Amino acid sequence: MGINILWDPLAPEGIELPVARMIAMILGREPELIDYPFLIEGYDRTRNQYDAQNILDRLQDTFTRRYPISGPLLLVTSHDLYVNGCDFVFGLARPACGVAVVSTARLGNEYYGRTPDDTDLVDRVAKEGAHELGHLLGLGHCGNPECVMFRPRTLDELDRKRKMLCPACTRALAP
Ligand SMILES: [Zn+2]
Ligand SMILES: [Zn+2]
Repeated sequence: MGINILWDPLAPEGIELPVARMIAMILGREPELIDYPFLIEGYDRTRNQYDAQNILDRLQDTFTRRYPISGPLLLVTSHDLYVNGCDFVFGLARPACGVAVVSTARLGNEYYGRTPDDTDLVDRVAKEGAHELGHLLGLGHCGNPECVMFRPRTLDELDRKRKMLCPACTRALAP
């Protein structure tokens, strides 16, 4: 099954291909970068964040009815995301519908007052993108802190993950 990536025009430019290539390496599937003018809604003025569930609702609607695609879809956005009950999320997947979103807002060094570095950014977007796509391909969370399917709560936990699935998750993903 093919996997698809939709890159928000406001998301960091010029790293789409390196991210797609790294996701292909992690999941063993080549993503297709799709081009569609998708309008992101769900802005919460008081939080200055976007409701990830609202984004998934619209992704689901758009890519099943208006512009049907086959295979799981990941949206990469620069908007900071939340879900009810969480201050923020790096990303969110809705496996039953084959849609997921990942945010670059907290993946760049600059957010943490560190020197910007595209290599760090590509690594993190690829790891979190592959994580959400992994959910769409049927994987759950993994207890191995080095596995892409581990759920990181901080940037350091995210950086500790390796750019690969652990052996158990690799076996679970095998067709
Ligand atoms: Zn997860
Ligand atoms: Zn694992």
